Amino acid sequence: MQIKHSWLVLILIFTVIGGLFYGARLYLGLLQEQELAWQKAHVLADDLSIARKENNELLAFWTEEKERNDAIEFQISDIVGTVGDLTKLSKIDPELLKKYSKIYFLNENYEPKNLTKINKEYLFDPEKPLEIQSQVEPFLNRLMGAAEEAGLDLKITSAYRSFDTQESLKSNYKVTYGSGANQFSADQGYSEHQLGTTVDFVTGSATFNGFEKTEAYNWLKANAYKYGFIISYPEENNYYQFEPWHWRFVGTKLAKKVKEDNRYFYSLPQRTIDEFLIHLFD
Ligand SMILES: [Zn+2]
Repeated sequence: MQIKHSWLVLILIFTVIGGLFYGARLYLGLLQEQELAWQKAHVLADDLSIARKENNELLAFWTEEKERNDAIEFQISDIVGTVGDLTKLSKIDPELLKKYSKIYFLNENYEPKNLTKINKEYLFDPEKPLEIQSQVEPFLNRLMGAAEEAGLDLKITSAYRSFDTQESLKSNYKVTYGSGANQFSADQGYSEHQLGTTVDFVTGSATFNGFEKTEAYNWLKANAYKYGFIISYPEENNYYQFEPWHWRFVGTKLAKKVKEDNRYFYSLPQRTIDEFLIHLFD
């Protein structure tokens, strides 16, 4: 009985020890698994943060690229605009908006590139053909048409004059008026007529003398700017004697400015005038 009891105790002890070992192994195994899980989690977290960093870098790169592209696109459209302006400007003769005087006059070899005969019905003397710079012609036609509609008797007596014509005209005046001819109209507007953009107006009843008293002159003062024409030497100017008949084409934009600012062409700085060159035939 004693021996049987001892065996039972031994078996119990072994069972308890075995259970403890098994439990301990199970526990260690679990710990190991947990450790592995932690490691895996860390690796995943690292991967994620790397991926996130790369993602941010990509986004920054993309944003930067996009900004650069936008800037280039803007520059290109800017350049295209400038090139368009330059192309337009290169086709306009800069002489057409120059201020001329007795000191600074147009080169004697200058000739307008294109001249067109003025419609006969607008001429004071239909038998004496007159020419005008071709691009100015449509503006002149519109002015003459509007004057006609207003019931005015407005005619053109002079337009393009070559250097040679000017010279002979001047010497004619000299013969008639002596050295005082220098003060006379052959000198004034000398270059402007050679440009081909300038006309002298008269009416059937009033030639140069008394033109300032005509209805036609008042109409020109109020309306010629709409067609791009301005009076070169108005009544109150400090440059030359008053020439109410002598009108020069400077484009509608500049003519409007001159009119609105209550100035006259020769009182504006050449730099201000040059800004309007690109709009000359607009
Ligand atoms: Zn004139």
